[in-house]
Amino acid sequence: MNESTKILKVGIYERLSDEDRFKLNKDDDSESIKNQRNLLMAEIDKRPEFVLVDEYCDEDLSGAGTYRPEFERLIRDCENGKIDVVLCKSQSRFSRDMEVIEKFLHNKFIEWGVRFISLADNADTANAGNKKARQINGLVNEWYLEDVSNNIRSAFKAKMKQGEFISPFASFGYEISKEDNNKLIVDPEASVIVKDIFDLYLTGLGFTGIAKYLNSKNIPCPSLYKYLKGSKLNIISNRPREEIKWNTNAIKTILKNELYLGHLIQGKRTTVSYKNHKIKMKNQKEWIKIENTHEAIIDEETFNKVQIAMKERTKPVKINGIVHLFSGKVFCLECKHYMRKKNSKKHEYLVCSNNRDGYDDCINKSSMRYDILENLVLEAINEKIKKYYNQSELNNLDSKNKANRFLEKIKSLEKQKENIEKEISKTRNYLKNLYEDKVNGIITNEQFKDLITDYNKNEDKYSNQIKSINSEIAYYKMKEETSKNNDKIFSKYQTLTELNKFIVDEFVDKIYIGNLNKETNTRDIQIKWNFE
Ligand SMILES: [Zn+2]
Repeated sequence: MNESTKILKVGIYERLSDEDRFKLNKDDDSESIKNQRNLLMAEIDKRPEFVLVDEYCDEDLSGAGTYRPEFERLIRDCENGKIDVVLCKSQSRFSRDMEVIEKFLHNKFIEWGVRFISLADNADTANAGNKKARQINGLVNEWYLEDVSNNIRSAFKAKMKQGEFISPFASFGYEISKEDNNKLIVDPEASVIVKDIFDLYLTGLGFTGIAKYLNSKNIPCPSLYKYLKGSKLNIISNRPREEIKWNTNAIKTILKNELYLGHLIQGKRTTVSYKNHKIKMKNQKEWIKIENTHEAIIDEETFNKVQIAMKERTKPVKINGIVHLFSGKVFCLECKHYMRKKNSKKHEYLVCSNNRDGYDDCINKSSMRYDILENLVLEAINEKIKKYYNQSELNNLDSKNKANRFLEKIKSLEKQKENIEKEISKTRNYLKNLYEDKVNGIITNEQFKDLITDYNKNEDKYSNQIKSINSEIAYYKMKEETSKNNDKIFSKYQTLTELNKFIVDEFVDKIYIGNLNKETNTRDIQIKWNFE
């Protein structure tokens, strides 16, 4: 090696995506991680100044997705100067999202002094003339992804309808068959734990109780189990081991899952669009349910018993349970300690908690009957409502007018936004046509490049306009909300005949109970409202 050659620290990035997984049959692994890696390693061998410092690899994650842990680690290392060169098979492996390409290749990487090279499409940020080509690559990749994603969605749907399992991970208790990627088979170890969970619930243990029990026996929770079995899960490897435990939610999910009956229910969720991977729950009618697609772990009788028990056990707690009507809200007026609930045979009482036998901590000794307090609070709330209605007749008109004005403003802003969005989609279509013209040789490369530059300028302008409109809308929404907030609380209630926890929480902040005056047989009770 030449002495003067500067050593460059290289990070290679590989990605296996949804579209590959679906597109490929088992003999074709041209896009596989192994293949991408070989290609990149060969390139490093060819260039003496390149030294491999780290490999970053995201599997089963799509190029437009927002959650790519290894990608994020790569970016962090670039920022921290650990890496001089990012090497990929193609620009689309790095990202199919035009915004991401712009942000990193043409801004951040330059700022950090990082060079980007992708082999298949000959992109190299050290070569300045390359920029336009990279931008066009980015756009074409984005269109490709949109198209591919629609195809994948319909193909996945067809597979689901045939009862084929399409998720990359099997639920706890099952594993994906090695002979058939779309078939679930029983995992002998984990399925025993699933059976235990159902049995434990029927013996009367709750979700939390079961979780505690399993943790005390050191039984690995589903994600840890997956990890121990050799799945490469980044979520796990980045977290301290003692945090990865059974929790209430995991137990609940298992007890509700019809998969254990041998039925496959898929298509519960959908992503909003190919670029925005936010997940949305689908209407239950649209779920694709196929019965008896695999071996059951739980028999129907046990499963149904558990479902019924779950419904019964989650009924709301009565007043004599742990959470009473004024729980956490009643305090002693004299010493400000909370009032504890006390039951006798005949009645329920509240008593200052700052009273211990032998110590005279608080002068407030007499207890307050719970049902009497309940009636007092009910009366006070009813009075409050009446007073509000009388007052509101005067200022109602004014506040309604205000709220309406804000609403009108919001409407007109939303109209403006809609118009700009229409413009954006018009120019995008126009650009798509241009691209076809270029491919068909109707316009020259040079003309096309100029037009793309104009297009990028327009996009910036539009997105700034939308940003400022959005913040204006948020402002007026806030104004409108406050002007009608009081109306909202009161309009729900006319005259109340009975209290419940919800009403108490909405109206009452705190209740203070004073000492009983034995001569007049009266005591001071003050209610602090959530509003005036
Ligand atoms: Zn007290």
